[in-house]
Amino acid sequence: MEKRVRLRFAPSPTGGLHMGGVRTALFSYLFAKKHGGDFVLRIEDTDQTRYVNGAEEYIINALKWCGIEPNEGVGFGDGPYAPYRQSERKELGIYKKYADQLIASGHAYVAFDTSEELDEMRKRLEAAKVVAPQYNAITRQNMRNALTLPEDEVKKIMDSGAPYVVRLKVPRNEEIRFHDIIRGWVTVNSSQVDDKVLLKSDGMPTYHLAHIVDDIEMKISHAVRGEEWLPSAPSHILIYRYLGLEEDMPKLAHLPLILKPDGNGKLSKRDKSGLPMFPLDWFDERTGEKYVGYKESGFTPDAFINMLALLGWNPGDNREIMSKEELIANFSFERVNKSGAKFDPEKTKWFNQQYLRMQTDEQLADSVMPLLEAKGFKKDKAFVTEFCRLIKEKAHFVTEFYDLGSYFFAAPTSYDEKVMTKKWNENSKTTYSKLTEKLTALDTWTTNSLHDLFAAVEPELGKIDMQVVRVLTTGVAGGAQLFDMLALLGKEEVLTRLNKALASLS
Ligand code: GLU
Repeated sequence: MEKRVRLRFAPSPTGGLHMGGVRTALFSYLFAKKHGGDFVLRIEDTDQTRYVNGAEEYIINALKWCGIEPNEGVGFGDGPYAPYRQSERKELGIYKKYADQLIASGHAYVAFDTSEELDEMRKRLEAAKVVAPQYNAITRQNMRNALTLPEDEVKKIMDSGAPYVVRLKVPRNEEIRFHDIIRGWVTVNSSQVDDKVLLKSDGMPTYHLAHIVDDIEMKISHAVRGEEWLPSAPSHILIYRYLGLEEDMPKLAHLPLILKPDGNGKLSKRDKSGLPMFPLDWFDERTGEKYVGYKESGFTPDAFINMLALLGWNPGDNREIMSKEELIANFSFERVNKSGAKFDPEKTKWFNQQYLRMQTDEQLADSVMPLLEAKGFKKDKAFVTEFCRLIKEKAHFVTEFYDLGSYFFAAPTSYDEKVMTKKWNENSKTTYSKLTEKLTALDTWTTNSLHDLFAAVEPELGKIDMQVVRVLTTGVAGGAQLFDMLALLGKEEVLTRLNKALASLS
C-alpha cells in the first residue's frame, strides 16, 4: 500500500529562519498539499549548546506569515505523534531504545574517548597526511571504545558513570547506494563515511539518530532538506538498514543551494545585495546582529513565496507569476534542478511589484494605512484608497507609497527650484493669483470639473503651466496625475496651499 504523504519541516532553533530554510519548508508544503497529505513542524533541538531563545517562535511566525502552515506540530496543534520537540521526545526515552537496539545487533558501540584524545587522533592523522581525518573502521582500532577494550573493562567504565557516546559502526569498504528524487542514484563507498555519534554523552541523540527515529515514528513519506545534508545521507541509509527499517524510510530529496547573485558561492545571511535574507525582522541576541525581514521591507507573502518557489524549480514552461494554488497544482520534485539557483534581487523586487499591481486599491490601502499612521497621518480609508490608486504604478513596495506621495499628507515648505527658476516670471504671480480666484469660485471639485476649468480659463489668463501648478501645490516637479491629485487633496487644502505659495513668491 502507498504510504500516506507526510512531509516534515524540521528546523533546529539555532537562529532566525533564513530564506533557504523557508524554501525547504515551502517545497515540502507544496508537495504535501498537492498530494492531499500532511505537513508537520518538528523542532530539532537536541543540540542545547546552539539553542537560541526566540528562534522557535520566529520559525512559527515566519511560516504563518508566508502562509505555509503545518497542519500538525509545534505551534500548530498536536497531531497523533506528539510531542514534536526532540528534547521532549528524548525525555520519553524514544531515541535510546533505538541506540540500544543498534548496540545489541552489533551495529553501534560505546566509545569513551575524551575530546583531548579525539584531538590527538586528529593531529596524528594530519601529521600522517590523511586528508579528511575521521573516526572510522581503521582509526577506531586505536581508540578507547567497546571494540578495542575488553568487555569487563567496558562494563567497569560504564558502571563508574564515566561519560560515553554511542557510535555507528560503519563497515570498512562497502558500497552504499541510495536514491534521491532530485539527484537520482547516488553511490558512496563506506570508507568515506565516519562512525557518527548517535547518542551524545549528555544522553541526547544527535541529529543523525533523532531525525531517523522521528521520521519513522511520525510516518514521514518524504524527507526534504538542503544539499548540505547530502554527505551524511550514506550514514543515514546504514542506520535505517541496521534498524531493519530500510523499507520504511522516507524518500529523500536534497534541494540545491541558493547561490549569491553573482553565482559565486552560497548565499549568506549577511548578503549585501540590499534585499532581506529573512522572512521577518530577526534580532540575534547572542551576537547583537539585526536582520531586516521581507515583511517589514514591504513584500507581500505571496510575492515572496512565488519568488522562492522559482529558486531551483520551474513549472516546465515560462510562467512566473503563480498563486499558491497554482504552485501546489504544478509542483513536483522532478522539476527541481540539481544545480544551485542564483538569487536575483532585481527579479525579487519585480515579483513584489507584480503582486502589488494585482491588489485592489482597497487592499493596498489596508496595508498603507498603518504605515501612514506610524508617521502620524490619520486619513480615512476612502482617501488612502484613492491615494493608492494614484501612486501604485511607480511603486515596488507599499513601504514606498508614502515617500512617493508625501505631499498628499503634508503641505510643501519649499518649491522645486529648477522649475521655478525656469518658469516663474514677473507675470506669474498675477496669472496664478487669478487662477486661484477661479478655483475659489469652483463649486464642484472633481477631476473633470478641474480639467474643464483649466481649459476654460486659458483664453483669459494665458498659458497655465501645469508643472507650476504642481510645484505650487506639492513642492515637487513630478508625481501623480495633476487633476486627480488636486481633486483628492480637496478644495480647501489646494486653496490654502496656493495662497501660501503665492504669498511667499514675488
Ligand atoms: N534539523 C536539521 C536542520 O536544521 C534538519 C535537516 C532535515 O530536515 O533532515 O537543518
